Amino acid sequence: MARLTQADLVDLNHKFEERTPVELIQWAHEMFGDRLAAISAMQKAGSVLCHLMSQLEFGLKVLFVDTGVNFPETLQTRDRIAEQYGLNVITLEPELSMEEQTAKHGVLYLTVEGQQECCDMRKTKPLTAVKGEYDALLGSLRRSDGGKRESCPILAIDENMNCLRINPMAIMDDEQLESYISENDVITNPLHDQGFSTISCNRCTTPVLPNEPKRAGRWRHLGPWSVYCGINPTDMDPANSPAIDLPQDLVDRILGRETDFMI
Ligand code: SF4
Repeated sequence: MARLTQADLVDLNHKFEERTPVELIQWAHEMFGDRLAAISAMQKAGSVLCHLMSQLEFGLKVLFVDTGVNFPETLQTRDRIAEQYGLNVITLEPELSMEEQTAKHGVLYLTVEGQQECCDMRKTKPLTAVKGEYDALLGSLRRSDGGKRESCPILAIDENMNCLRINPMAIMDDEQLESYISENDVITNPLHDQGFSTISCNRCTTPVLPNEPKRAGRWRHLGPWSVYCGINPTDMDPANSPAIDLPQDLVDRILGRETDFMI
């Protein structure tokens, strides 16, 4: 195994700024084969990612975390995307139902600390349960989303999953996203048309006013202290140079180098 750090990816990230989302997904597929999957919460950008993947026909899996308290519209969007785009959507679930969790731990999402615990149990842990199955995950984070995502890299190290996170749509702005959706008649979550700019669990998501930031509808009841759930490592404050361990030949191919063991 060989160590791959965020610092190792600086040159590649710089080069990838010029690439289109399709080119980046193609690169990822060539590099990782079926050790690559996508992750989507079935929001607007995730729908576009699913559409792009359906066009490329690589047969990659799409991971969806069902917290057990998603809106029915989100689950319907997942099912429509799986069926109409012919994608293999894998639903990941928490160990406990929300009822079981509440009986054991109380109503966690009513406090900032509890929210982190709840998101960890219902979102992050179901994903880390498949750690080791994938060397890379495609996501749909975009810099236009603002906040922590303003500077999200195309390639990011995910220490929790020991894999590379690839954000092929990082440079796609809102206008380009909307154009892609209308030109390709992309299936989107109907809640977006009801004022939801981002969509997560029904307990913690509300619509936003036109002049509010996009994420104002997330954990509104907790004030400005809760903004991200933690399932995307680049949303959180990372270690100085996060690192993962991947097979040596894979790291060499990612970085476009050959290791000379004679040195
Ligand atoms: S968004 Fe709310 S209900 Fe969903 S996992 Fe996080 S704290 Fe729990």
